Amino acid sequence: MKRFWIQLAFLGLFTLIIMSGKMVLWLGIFVLSLLIGKVYGRFYCGYICPMNTTMQWAEKVSQRFGWQRGGTPKFLSHKWIPWGVLVLMGVSMILSKRILKFDMPVLIVLIVISIGLTLRYKQEVFHNHVCPYGALLKATGHSPVYTTQVDYNACIGCHKCEKVCPSGAIQVNTNTRKASVDPSICHQCTDNCAGVCPVNAIAYKK
Ligand code: SF4
Ligand code: SF4
Repeated sequence: MKRFWIQLAFLGLFTLIIMSGKMVLWLGIFVLSLLIGKVYGRFYCGYICPMNTTMQWAEKVSQRFGWQRGGTPKFLSHKWIPWGVLVLMGVSMILSKRILKFDMPVLIVLIVISIGLTLRYKQEVFHNHVCPYGALLKATGHSPVYTTQVDYNACIGCHKCEKVCPSGAIQVNTNTRKASVDPSICHQCTDNCAGVCPVNAIAYKK
């Protein structure tokens, strides 16, 4: 619940920044999160990202009407797609500024794409296969000092955490029947997985 209010506050801040036309401020927040991610992981995704916040609502609508399907579509399965989106974003920003004399609102475009995709596919499809910010955060947040972890001895392999993870970061090994977290794609949202673990085996720690 606490995370919900933090996300809402950042969505409000993002809206204010968009309205004031000072997108460079948001870029500053992102770059700072990128650097701090080396220590605290991808908390930008779990707490700050406006796309993630709106996608959670889109997912609720999609599940309510039964639109969402599992699996990643083949056309989004190539590893380079997030990097391609990043290049496309940069080029369209430069060209729109130079030729059309206006600032392309790339983040708004990405929010629309992320909502559209989440109405059809699970959130992890956008997070892990499309999002250019995710690709950058993956690079700095792949082995942070603090991260969400599973107590190997306490885990009973019930799979409950897997079902609620929005990024597919927590998986139960079929042989050991123990869960583990991939920090490179974990959003450090914690309340999702830790909230459902029946034996309190999940914690954010050093
Ligand atoms: S593993 Fe837990 S903390 Fe990490 S993204 Fe999944 S639900 Fe969030
Ligand atoms: S919810 Fe807890 S006990 Fe169940 S698999 Fe995940 S970490 Fe293990």
